[in-house]
Formats: sequence, C-alpha cells, structure tokens
Amino acid sequence: MLVQVALPVPLYRVFDYSVSTDNNILSNVSLPQIGSRVEVSFGRQTLIGIVIAHIARADSNVPSGKLKPINKCLDAEPILNASMLKLAYWLARYYHYPLGDVLAVILPSLVRQGKPLDLLITHWRILPHVSDDDFHANAKKQKQQFDMLKLHGARGASEDVLLLEGMERAFLKTLEEKGLIERYIEPKQAPSPVTLAKMPLDLNEEQQQAVSAIIATHQAQRYTGFLLNGITGSGKTEVYLQAMQAVLEAGKQVLILVPEIGLTPQTRARFASRFAAHIVLLHSGMNNTHRLQGWQDCRTGHAQIIIGTRSAVLYPFANLGLIVVDEAHDGSYKQQDTLRYHAADVALYRGVQYNIPVILGTATPSLEHLKLVDDGKLVEYQLRTRPGNAKPAPMQLIDARLQSTHQQTTDDGARYDTGLTDAMIGAIRQTLEAGDQVLVFLNRRGYAPVLLCEACGWQADCPRCDAHLTVHYNSQSQYSSYLKCHHCDWQAYIPTVCPDCGSQNLDAKGIGTTRLSENLHAIFANPQTSKELYPIIQIDRDTTRRKDSWENIYQRINQGNPAILVGTQMVAKGHHFPNVTLVCLPNADRGFLSADFRSPEHTAQLMIQVAGRSGRGNKAGRVLIQTLQPDNDLLLKLVKDGYLSFARELLQERKMMGLPPYTHAALIRCEGKTLVSTRQALKDAIAILPSNHNLAVLGPIDAPMSKKNSRYHAQLLLLAKERQQLHHVLSHWWQPVLALPSAKYLKLTLDIDPIGW
Ligand code: ADP
Ligand code: ZN
Ligand code: ZN
Repeated sequence: MLVQVALPVPLYRVFDYSVSTDNNILSNVSLPQIGSRVEVSFGRQTLIGIVIAHIARADSNVPSGKLKPINKCLDAEPILNASMLKLAYWLARYYHYPLGDVLAVILPSLVRQGKPLDLLITHWRILPHVSDDDFHANAKKQKQQFDMLKLHGARGASEDVLLLEGMERAFLKTLEEKGLIERYIEPKQAPSPVTLAKMPLDLNEEQQQAVSAIIATHQAQRYTGFLLNGITGSGKTEVYLQAMQAVLEAGKQVLILVPEIGLTPQTRARFASRFAAHIVLLHSGMNNTHRLQGWQDCRTGHAQIIIGTRSAVLYPFANLGLIVVDEAHDGSYKQQDTLRYHAADVALYRGVQYNIPVILGTATPSLEHLKLVDDGKLVEYQLRTRPGNAKPAPMQLIDARLQSTHQQTTDDGARYDTGLTDAMIGAIRQTLEAGDQVLVFLNRRGYAPVLLCEACGWQADCPRCDAHLTVHYNSQSQYSSYLKCHHCDWQAYIPTVCPDCGSQNLDAKGIGTTRLSENLHAIFANPQTSKELYPIIQIDRDTTRRKDSWENIYQRINQGNPAILVGTQMVAKGHHFPNVTLVCLPNADRGFLSADFRSPEHTAQLMIQVAGRSGRGNKAGRVLIQTLQPDNDLLLKLVKDGYLSFARELLQERKMMGLPPYTHAALIRCEGKTLVSTRQALKDAIAILPSNHNLAVLGPIDAPMSKKNSRYHAQLLLLAKERQQLHHVLSHWWQPVLALPSAKYLKLTLDIDPIGW
C-alpha cells in the first residue's frame, strides 16, 4: 500500500509515497492513518502533509524508482477526522484552491510545523494553598516563573504552552519539589455539564417563535439555516442564549462567530454571565500556543462555548450542536486573501454536514441572505420591536445645501469650516445639556484626507498607490504630524512649502476624525477659558491601537457623563453605549454615489448599525443625517421606510441588471509590475475560455485602485446565471490560466462570490 499525501504547495494535486515499517516511528501502526500527519521529502525540502488516502501500488502513476518513502508518521491517531477532510475537499472544490493549501489554512501553525499534539496533555497548576508569601525575597527567578503560571489561573496550562511562553523545565521541577505546583493530566472525559448562571428573560412573542423553531430543529437533529432578522436592540442575543441553552444542556458545543471588531471582552461577558461553561475565545490576536490550545479544546470537546472570528468556522469540533453567525452581513466574514472563503457560507455548509441549526443574526441582512430566504433556503424570523418601551431611534435628514456648515474663527482671525450644520450643532448641544451622550460618526481617520497647494493645485499623493496621503496633524506636537498612505502605510513629513511651486499656501482639505474632534472642541469649549466642558472621546484605529486603550475608552464612556464620542466604523458593531441618545452622521451618505454597485447596500448597513447605537438604554434616541443629496431616492427610501424596504428595492434593481445575487460571480485579479502585462495575461485567459462557456465576461479592466504598493492590478469578472455553469467552466479553465506563459511572473487570484470589485 501507498499513502496519498496533500502537501502545502500551490499545486492542484496530491503526492504518492511508500511506507516501510522501519521508517515508521509508531511501530504498532503499519500504515499512517488517513487524516494524520507525515513528514516527507519533496524535492530538496522536507514538508509536513496530511495523508488523505491509501492506494494500491498498481494505482499509482509514479514510476518505480521514483517513488519515495515517507520520512516518518507524526500521529498515531488522525488529527483530522472524516468530516474535517470532507470540509477541506469542499473548500478546495468550491473555491478552486489547492487541497494542500486548504489544509494549511485549516491547521494551526504549530500543527503544521509538526508539533506533537500529546505534549499538551501534561498540565501544571498552582496548588490551592500557595500564595506569593511562600517565596523568599531572594528567589526572584522562581517567583518570576511562578507568576507566569499564575497568569493561567486555577486550571494552569499545558507544559508545552508554558515552555513556549518561556518557562524552564528545570524551574517547573524545582517548584514542584518545593510543593508549590503540581502536574496533572488533563482529564479526557467530557467537561462538567453546563449550568445556568442566571435565569433567562421572558421572551416576547416574536423571540419565542424563533427560539421554538431553532430548538425544534436541534431536537430533530436536522439542519435548518435561520435568518434572524431583528432591528438593533430587539433581543437577538436573547434568542441565541435560549437556543444555546437547549443545545448546551444536551451536552453539545455551540460556535458563535462575531465580526473582528465586536470581539471585545463584553462579548464573552454576555455569554459568561448566563452560562457556567468552559468558554473559549478564538481571534486573530492569539499567539500560536493559545491557538493550538483552542484548537485542541474544540477538537476534544473540552470547549463548550466557542466565540470566534471568521477562521473559527474552520476548526474541528467534537460534537457541535449549533452555529450562530452574529452580524451575518458583516464584510469581515469574507477572507480577502489566500483561501477567499465566506464564513457565513462555510457555517451553512457545516450545518448541513452535522445536521444542526445555523442562525444568521443581523439587523441589516445582506441581499444574498434575503435572496436565500426567497428561494426557501433560509427560514426567516423577524424581530420588529425592542423589548420594553424602547423605540427604535427615528432618522431625520438635514439638508446641508440649505444650511451652510458652521464656521469658526481661529485665534488669529482666520475662519474655517467645521463640517457641521447649525442644526446638527444645536441638537448636540441640547443632548449634552440634557446630560446625555452624543455619537458623531465619520468613517475617515486622521486629520484630513488631502493636502492641497492653493496656488498650483498640487496634492500630496502616495508614490506607491493611486491614492492621496492622509494628513495626520497634531496641534500639540509637530513630531506626531505626518502624511500617511492608508493603503500601504507609506509615511512622509508634512512639507512647509509646495514641492511644485514653492508656495507656502498649503491647506489640509476635508475632515477626518482628529480634525472633527478639534472642531467639536472649539465649538463646545468654555468660550472664556477654552477649557473642555464635555470630554470628546475619539474612537478609531489610531486611538485604540494600544492593547488596553479600548478598555480605558470604554470605561470613560460607561461612567455615563455627558460626552461626545467621535468614531469610525469601529463603533458601529455590537457596542452598547447606554447613554448615547443622539447619533450624528455628518456625511455617511456619500457611499450612495459610489461606482461600486454594492456600495449603497454597505453604506446603508453601516448607517443603520451606527444609528442603532442611539437610545439603547431606557431613553429614546434620535439620528441626524446631514446630506448634500436630500432627494436621493435610495436615501429617502432608507430613512422613510427602513432598511428592509430599501434592501428589497435594491434587490429588484439587481435582478433587472443581472447582478449578484441573481447571478453568480467569480473575480479574477492579476497583479504585476506593469498594467500592460496584467491586462495581457487576462486577455490570454479570455482567449482560452471554452467556446460554449455561456458566461458574461466583463473586462479586463483596471482594478478600482489599480496601483497599490507599487504593484499594478487588473481584473476580470465572470457572471453566470447558474452556479453550476460557473464552477464547470472554472474547473476546466482556471488551472490552464495559471499555467499561461504570460502569467508566469504575475500573481493571479480567483475570488468566488467576491463582495466588492
Ligand atoms: P440585539 O442583539 O438584537 O441588538 P440585545 O440582545 O442586545 O439586542 O437586546 C437589547 C436589550 O434588550 C438587552 O439589554 C437585553 O437584555 C434586552 N432584552 C432582550 N430580550 C428581552 C426580553 N424578552 N425581555 C426584556 N428584555 C429583553
Ligand atoms: Zn503649489
Ligand atoms: Zn500607498
């Protein structure tokens, strides 16, 4: 017998190896099992791959003499079971991505590197009676090592994790001999049953219907995909919690996917306050050892509630009973490089695979998901009211053409535009004076988006991208003033004179969150002392970069004193600011004019999400939208009739125009050193399309930002009426495209179901 091995190489094939008993370290196993890791030589490299099949010698095409034996088998038991391998095959087929590379995406890096999994079995923990007082003042190193273990709490951590974190084996021994710590074997049996830490709420009628339907599906051990379509604050989380309860009590695991940004300690706290359970968090900030630990916890069934971002949907689970995708419309569920999967789609696939319910929860369903409801592939439950008296905040338009924006005067008499109308400023003042908080949303960080020479029209552009440099200006410190490209991070000093004409008349144009915060400060400061009357709290990637900064900001906000929060889309998702009663959007409607046909959908989703931050406590909220296009049909529809009518109208448009979700798309991107070469490769690709392909072919065209990071990008879009058609063509065409002579020095990528182009 031979083994067929999937290797992490960008080739659409697997490789045959022979097995001889003497190179197998596990003497009692004659053949590495399917789903286990093997180390093999591949060319001049040594690689670790996964055994995916056993085949007879006669069925291999490798000529004798060329066949190599595996170096060794790394696992006595498979690390990927049949359903994980099935998932990998499906991903490889659906996204037209090499199987070995799919497996490399699925496996945590330590597993990929061949770390023995059973090292995780020996655990160390601190003995209950031990305290800091047990250390002699001289025993500094011992104390320091002890403190590392202490960070892991009562359960301690596996030896492997501790060693990787920098503990030394000799010190583990010393501390053990001194009777301070002990080793133990993590019990293999199921963790203790989940219990309720707090009583569930009484559900309203709409919530009850949703929960009953989900639990019925769970009890029948069937798959159903649910679209839980509930306005912000309607109690979707309570629906998740009560559906989870039934699943957890049946001894099964629950996976909750959240968008990247929502993964703050609050998310965990909401679930931890309801259930006494082993909760595991999986997110991009984890180090490799924690990722491996999380992977093992999911695989062994130790983890009962798993809260994770996108990639958690690819984890192995011992007995998964329910998947929740919170904010299912969110763009962060789509992976934008390597294996370009959509976590909500993978979640539905896994639901089918395990015969379990999957809940897609959102206040602003994507058009794709609404279409699935129409097609009978998702079952929709709507939550139309907020519990108690809370009413959804009404949205109101301010016509910024009629009301010019408010002007301020600087100390030296210059006048400048604040970007805010008097109506908006008045509403902010009123809200602050009533003791409430205001959120001003501006999706643009930095001081200003453009630096312009008033004399000759020169603009500060990124030398590497088709983009302006953003002005980051700090009036307190010139050292923190600079120009920066938000696409490639290129930085430069702010010039004092125009590099083209020498004029000193350089002006920062437009408004970013830093400038808006300054303007608000000028408007609302005490006119005599110019001291701040209300704190202005800026929330964006610049102010939350440090690890604890988001925590600090959050605490300041939750003290509840009147304040103005200025935030980018970071604030839109999942955050609960109970004292915010006014949300202002000075120019969020700009996206309705964009060339990308998906832009209105995404703009509206963002606007509704931001608007949902208003009036979530006991007080009523309101939302003000300042716009230069108050007659825009889509904007009016959204404001008057709400997101669902708006989305239905967009869906009609898409149908008429033959755009997704009424057609199925694949986007081919080509990246290279020149535009000519990228376009040529795509032209050659079109030339080898099968003659009867029946697809709409759009392009090649230059990508929206065709120069990025000194590389050029062109793209080609394929649209098909039927998904089958598209995949049929791709399965015959894509690999020859990659092999085109003109594609040799270019990077070609394929994006199935792209979310933007
Ligand atoms: P969503 O996730 O839909 O935005 P949440 O789940 O955060 O909404 O619920 C909003 C608020 O309503 C929360 O404070 C929650 O505790 C409360 N809530 C939810 N369901 C009920 C209910 N049935 N009765 C009373 N309060 C509820
Ligand atoms: Zn100039
Ligand atoms: Zn750049």
